Amino acid sequence: MTKKYTTLSLLLLSFLFPQEPEPIKSGVAPPRGIYAPAVNALHYDVELGIGEKSDWIEGRVKIKVAVEDDSPILPIDFTGLEINTIVIEGRQVKYRHRKGVIRIPLESNRIGDTVLVEIFYKGKPDDGLILGKNVHGDQTAFVDNWPNRTRFWLPSIDHPSDKATVNYTVHAPEIWKVIANGYQSSQPTETPENAIGPKEDRLTWKWEVTVPISPYNMVIGAAEFETRIIGLAACGEAPASQREDGCVEVTYWVYPEDVINAEPSFRRAVDMVDYFTQTIGPFPFEKLANVQSSTRYGGMENASAIFYSENGIAKGRNIEGTVSHEIAHQWFGDAVTESNWYHLWLSEGFATYFGALFFEFADGADTFNKQMDKSRKSVIKSKVTNFPIIDSNEKDLFKLLNSNNYPKGGWVLHMLRGLLGDDIFFRGIKAYYKRYTHQVVLTEDFQKVMEKTSGQDLNWFFQQWLYQPGYPQLKHEENWESNDGTKGVMKVRILQMQKTAWPIFKLPTEICWYNDCKSIEINQRINEFQFNFDTKPTLSGIIDPKGWVLKDLVSKK
Ligand SMILES: [Zn+2]
Repeated sequence: MTKKYTTLSLLLLSFLFPQEPEPIKSGVAPPRGIYAPAVNALHYDVELGIGEKSDWIEGRVKIKVAVEDDSPILPIDFTGLEINTIVIEGRQVKYRHRKGVIRIPLESNRIGDTVLVEIFYKGKPDDGLILGKNVHGDQTAFVDNWPNRTRFWLPSIDHPSDKATVNYTVHAPEIWKVIANGYQSSQPTETPENAIGPKEDRLTWKWEVTVPISPYNMVIGAAEFETRIIGLAACGEAPASQREDGCVEVTYWVYPEDVINAEPSFRRAVDMVDYFTQTIGPFPFEKLANVQSSTRYGGMENASAIFYSENGIAKGRNIEGTVSHEIAHQWFGDAVTESNWYHLWLSEGFATYFGALFFEFADGADTFNKQMDKSRKSVIKSKVTNFPIIDSNEKDLFKLLNSNNYPKGGWVLHMLRGLLGDDIFFRGIKAYYKRYTHQVVLTEDFQKVMEKTSGQDLNWFFQQWLYQPGYPQLKHEENWESNDGTKGVMKVRILQMQKTAWPIFKLPTEICWYNDCKSIEINQRINEFQFNFDTKPTLSGIIDPKGWVLKDLVSKK
């Protein structure tokens, strides 16, 4: 996602793990549920009734769960709404619902079996499904889940590591259109009188997700929308496409007032999908809708239905940078997902870097280099430089939306590209995506693929940049010595000036006097080199002139 800094400061609640969490209040980050490895949701069949004049919803979900151990209790995350009944295989069952977790006793010995749990519920969601007025004063309904707010509107195994397929049946006011993940499996039909939800004049919309997605990605949005087809992308390179031509339909869904304002932001969305398909691999989902919404974030990458903050678009801002970032997330974050939030850089660092790479491809190196330097500066001035990117001590998941996971994570990829060269780097990226599409990963999975592709031991690189804090602060001194007044020796000292709590970095790089470049490796606090020249260079050397290394050049003693 992309951050919207104004709202983040409000979210200061810590996460309490896991069994006896605090009661849940509106807008407060909920605690995590219990994620026994034995619980594996396979499919959610979701039915929702929502209204334009009502502040409550009614839901029914059938969850197909694989039972993988002999635990007698099936835990499901759900909070705030009232449960009517729970049915397993036609039989109403007893359950406990306390502190954000439904606990359903199972008959013994169901290992290896699948269980179909059906939950009927109703109420006014405290969070997760946001019912409210949009920027133009019209009522809307949008899901906004990151990181674990799915449980506020949908009973689920609410953890990124438990992916499942989904289908949605949504009964919504007839003036609204309903968008969701996946493809629209049928045209909207008149809603039966006895369907769940507020009894307004409604249409029933159906969407189906054919590939597994994480619960935080499961969304619906309903509003008065104008839709536009931007174009078709990734033709023949989108295995989940349900179209006969195998293409990905790229659309935007915006409020009627904002159709013209939105156009520049989404103008190149097809080019972006094509570029990422070429660079990373096949487009993972059925279609790609770009949706104006009430998300609290600048953009939220929900699989195949990206939600953007309504304000930027309504104000006529060009949010193309956000669009590229969220589209890159379809590959990284959505299709290849971190199995644990502490490896968030696998989503945000990747989307930050690949989002920028589109502009290198489309607009040239200058645009890209400016973006990289901007993100370098934001790492250097950030408040989290004393923490590593992978920081399992941070218990507030919202605080992981920081400069470590975004720009510094992006820089890790840029440095890896600099180290390995374009050919190996992009081959590794393709291999990693191919290996883990629709699965979950940790950083070591990425490291292994890059090591295998490059044939290099990259442990030092991953350790220093992901598991240790800081960045190199380099001081550079030169001393020319000549015996005959022409030929001579340039003595170079490069000092790592950063505080001792930060590591001494290993930096294979180069130092260049104009185009005369010498390979060096900086790997000590004090590094000394000497180079012979036929004549004295008129300017001092430049370390890493192509900008492959995240660093700050300092002049202080
Ligand atoms: Zn992002």
